[in-house]
Amino acid sequence: MSVQKIGVIGAGLMGNGIAHASIVAGFDVILVDAFETALPKAVATLTKNMDRQVAKNTLSAADKDAALQRLITNTDYKALADADLVIEAVPEIEDLKRKIYGELKGVLKPEAMIASNTSSISITKLASMTDRAAQFIGLHFFNPVPIMKLLEITRGLATSEATYETALAVALRLGKTVATAQDAPGFIVNRILVPMLNEAIFVLHEGTGTVESIDAGMKLGANHPMGPLELADFVGLETLLSILHVLHSELGEDKYRPCPLLVKYVEAGWYGRKTGKGFYDYSVTPPKPSR
Ligand code: NAD
Repeated sequence: MSVQKIGVIGAGLMGNGIAHASIVAGFDVILVDAFETALPKAVATLTKNMDRQVAKNTLSAADKDAALQRLITNTDYKALADADLVIEAVPEIEDLKRKIYGELKGVLKPEAMIASNTSSISITKLASMTDRAAQFIGLHFFNPVPIMKLLEITRGLATSEATYETALAVALRLGKTVATAQDAPGFIVNRILVPMLNEAIFVLHEGTGTVESIDAGMKLGANHPMGPLELADFVGLETLLSILHVLHSELGEDKYRPCPLLVKYVEAGWYGRKTGKGFYDYSVTPPKPSR
């Protein structure tokens, strides 16, 4: 099946980026959010991000205008009736995703595919909540979506070959490089990355290094473009903690135990960049270690 119209559910950080990348690639997009105020905010963010691309000459002003013409927004799932593919990007709460898949029953056309951008929930489990497990797949984008090259594609137990082939074609049209993962906790990237970030927090917790020395150590000693604590703040500490809980409970090994310091930061509401404070304090320029 060929995809031209993409529905994106959730106009937050990821949904916004997915909509942006999709309209630039020539897809028509219906962006849906349950909260009316989220939609104009998402369009403003996406337009500002496109302006930045225009200023850098990575997008022409004419292509920006044409891309924005391909975007519509709505608070009603019924607007997704003629979507070929719906990408769900609502918060990482299983029951919320279940409720939304329930609402899509009777709205989507029979041949439409559903994808989830979940970071850690089983694709097989999510597929079973829909009325179309064979047409369900994991499309795990990375933040910021228009810039990050990777798309992880995960098949659930029931995902058909045709669904996988269609998802692959969409990924290539979006200009992404694909890493195909089996359906296992954390897929590929988070299974490797998240324990590494947790380990960096243990190194801080135990007093082996400071925020600066840990980040400088991994940037200059391991050639990482960002230090692990800087990256943890960027991902969001509450997101990191929720992925660690899934790895820990589903794989059952102590090596995935969340560092108590990470738990404390989340308890304090220090989620990283999005709240202005995490391992760094973003109220000052350049950001300084918060403690
Ligand atoms: P977010 O909180 O920024 O955005 C979620 C959006 O969903 C919000 O705009 C919210 O209003 C909307 N929403 C809530 N309930 C809704 C409903 N019932 N119907 C429609 N919209 C609803 O979250 P995010 O960071 O964009 O994460 C979304 C998904 O992407 C999660 O599954 C997360 O695990 C995954 N993910 C996140 C990242 C990341 O770096 N943040 C990376 C990869 C994948």
